[in-house]
Amino acid sequence: MALDRLTGDNSIVFIRSEQLFDIARTNSLWYMAFGIACCAIEGLMSASGPRFDFDRMGVFFRNSPRQADVMIVAGTVNLKMAETVRRLYEQMPEPRWVVAMGACASTGGPFREYPNVVMGVDKVVPVDVYIPGCPPRPESVQYAFLELRKKIRAKTEDRLAARRQK
Ligand code: SF4
Repeated sequence: MALDRLTGDNSIVFIRSEQLFDIARTNSLWYMAFGIACCAIEGLMSASGPRFDFDRMGVFFRNSPRQADVMIVAGTVNLKMAETVRRLYEQMPEPRWVVAMGACASTGGPFREYPNVVMGVDKVVPVDVYIPGCPPRPESVQYAFLELRKKIRAKTEDRLAARRQK
């Protein structure tokens, strides 16, 4: 946890700038409003709705890839769509992350027999977190973001540890 350097006196905090950026980033992971198939309705829109209330985790959607931190690939990616997915990914600023939501985005799912279906979006963009299921529950989407937070923080800790060893 980034705040493990909190001193006994709660008015003073010693923290590296990278850890501070991580706290800001991981508590405001904005995803791109982008859905390809049924997963977008089943999991993504439900997760953002009032019942599951993604906003309370600082996670909400942006309509432009240029303002988004996370791409949630929600649905079947076919060969025609793959080019668009890649272009949108490249328009996102770094650091950027990708969540493959559901069986289709992860492996081709129930459509993997079709020749025009990409067998997992990892063939098109690098994936950070996979969500299993068809469709995944909104809770799974929220859990994926908790895992993504951990992954982002762990990467920073690894980088800092490597620097300390030099
Ligand atoms: S995993 Fe299931 S719910 Fe999601 S896009 Fe594929 S068929 Fe639809």
